[in-house]
Amino acid sequence: MAVRYSYLSQQFADCPELWEELKAFVKTGDFTLGKPLYEFEDNFSFLIGTQYAIGVNSGTDAIKIALRALGVSAGDEVITAANTFVATVGAIAEIGAVPVFIDVDETFCMDVDLIEEAITPKTKAIVPVHFTGYMTKMDKVNEIARRYKLFVVEDACQSILAEWKGKGAGTWGDAAAFSLHPLKNLNVWSDGGVIVTNNSELDKKIRLLRNHGLIGRDHVELLGYNSRLDTFQAIVANWLMPQAMDISQKRILNARKLDDGLGKIPQIKIPARTSEMRIVYHLYIIFAEKRDELLKYCLNKGIEAKVHYPIPIYKQKAMGDKYNSMKFPITDIQAQNIISFPCDQHLTDSQIDEIIDSVKEFYLQ
Ligand SMILES: *Cc1c(COP(=O)(O)O)cnc(C)c1O
Repeated sequence: MAVRYSYLSQQFADCPELWEELKAFVKTGDFTLGKPLYEFEDNFSFLIGTQYAIGVNSGTDAIKIALRALGVSAGDEVITAANTFVATVGAIAEIGAVPVFIDVDETFCMDVDLIEEAITPKTKAIVPVHFTGYMTKMDKVNEIARRYKLFVVEDACQSILAEWKGKGAGTWGDAAAFSLHPLKNLNVWSDGGVIVTNNSELDKKIRLLRNHGLIGRDHVELLGYNSRLDTFQAIVANWLMPQAMDISQKRILNARKLDDGLGKIPQIKIPARTSEMRIVYHLYIIFAEKRDELLKYCLNKGIEAKVHYPIPIYKQKAMGDKYNSMKFPITDIQAQNIISFPCDQHLTDSQIDEIIDSVKEFYLQ
């Protein structure tokens, strides 16, 4: 592959200090809820700018446990975006709650003007998804949530260090979920997730829920989950954490170069870029005419482009036919026209040029 999608084989290829730390850690045997996990939680809450951070098994569990800690339960409705990764919806469904989709806007995130009409007496929470490095217009979400007394759990899994109006992803809601999955912007070597909050009661409840509801060894306060962030992975995260800002900055620079080159091609439309939003480009998504042919052309040339996502979650078989009659026109149009290119911190300038040149060539042929 001339321009590969995944950079994981490069990212940790040369990190002798990290291996030394891991070797030293293995000798301590402090594997479960070990000291490096608590260090990671301090580091992470500092990075995001919240009071508390709690490491869990995955981003999916982070959404699920945050909702459950807020008291969302079976039959409650949770409003979320029609264009998201399955995990958001899976997490809501796992606690027996009902996902209620609303359409997205030009930022790929939920259209905040559609929230109010989706609220019913059963609505308990809103889960805005900060999609692909963008951010939901959180001032509006919070204003509505306050008025209707709804909880807000941000799905910030794709948008660590993104900002809306100068305030970071994860700092707006009652709680927020992050993912440390290998393909996310701040990644470890396995599954992992983090919940952040400024609410001390919520922090305590989430800590109980992630560890079987146990207080000490012998007292079970409530029935929870086995969902602790692996201490070994917390060491990897601690090692990577000082690079977090640089990683997002490099992605922003790469996106700017791609915008400059691709934006000159008439058949390509660059999505909304607003100065009010710090977009961290989990993926680099643009709109392309003849998308499917372009995708094929790029793949043939060794450029590993993708589509996120070709079939919106509400249309997936797993959702049954409940949502079939509903209309999410923007989500549908985006699904038909978007294409994603790599934009990560390991991408070189010549790879960026190769992407731009190949797209140009495709439309000239
Ligand atoms: C990755 C992701 C999740 C879940 O993260 P995992 O750590 O893989 O469980 C949730 N929501 C969105 C939008 C994601 O992209």
